Amino acid sequence: MIRLLKKQRAEKTHVKPQLPQGTSKLRFDFTEAARKAVKDHPELRRNTLFIDAKNDVWLEPSPIIEKIIDNDEMDTIEDVVKTARRLKTSFAQAVELDRKKTAHALIFHPDQHPLYAPQKGAADDFGSFDHETGHMLAPDTHDTAGENAADAYAMLRHLQRFGDASADAEYCGWKRALVFALTGTTSHVTTFTVDRIVVDAKTASVTSLTPKQTAAIARDYAKLHTPDAARLKELRIAFRYVIKKPPNAATFREIARIALRADVNSDAFYLSARILAAPLSKTGVIYNGNKITLSGHEWDEVRQRLEKKLEKLPPQHALKVLTRPAA
Ligand SMILES: [Zn+2]
Repeated sequence: MIRLLKKQRAEKTHVKPQLPQGTSKLRFDFTEAARKAVKDHPELRRNTLFIDAKNDVWLEPSPIIEKIIDNDEMDTIEDVVKTARRLKTSFAQAVELDRKKTAHALIFHPDQHPLYAPQKGAADDFGSFDHETGHMLAPDTHDTAGENAADAYAMLRHLQRFGDASADAEYCGWKRALVFALTGTTSHVTTFTVDRIVVDAKTASVTSLTPKQTAAIARDYAKLHTPDAARLKELRIAFRYVIKKPPNAATFREIARIALRADVNSDAFYLSARILAAPLSKTGVIYNGNKITLSGHEWDEVRQRLEKKLEKLPPQHALKVLTRPAA
């Protein structure tokens, strides 16, 4: 009975995807984005359910839904949809149907705290959607490696959608670094991967890549630039006095202490210097809707000492390129 009810409910909330006419690149439309993702990656048609959690829209056609219902797994997916709505965030959910088959649900919700652009808007919605799509395209990767693959795909798609010169492109790597520092959670340390993509895209265009090449290159970048467990452990130790602290002046002072002490080639230097460069810049940086700027004599001194350390890195080092003051 429950199964039947769920099935009726699922059918009722389905809508057929349709392509809106003359859609601006800057407007995010879930149906259009899902349709494009399936067109770009036909394997998603067979195993992925696309759900807009905010508006409770479940996209068809998705033959996989019958199998999910038959396996009594609708509850799992509906629970994740509820969580997405509560936390205002997106998920890529896998449900095992039998030993050989896994179904996926891409559950989208606009993020409460933007990750792919400083402000809430289309660029961030695309980023969230592409991140979850990236998970679908690298289903064999998990934990930090999985998040790196997902962010790598989101970054490549961002550069393809908004151009290699996108001002928002550098935001994701910065925010991932700061969120790690403040939480100590290493699963989403993707800064090394996404920064490398942003820097490489300054000299080699990614716009002409096919969808298949884009997915493959995202996986390659993640494989090369995801820190292993030992490096993540070291990072947690380096940031131990910052973890669980609010993003206030005392915390940034502690991050500056890490940067000024750390070896210039270490991960701890990379992340701490990367975090500090944005609030030390003339324009400052937006974090969860609040502007952060570090200015005054104390911070001028920190900036100068950091610049001296950065001089030791080769010119094309990602950290050097991304911390270079705007001309
Ligand atoms: Zn993820």
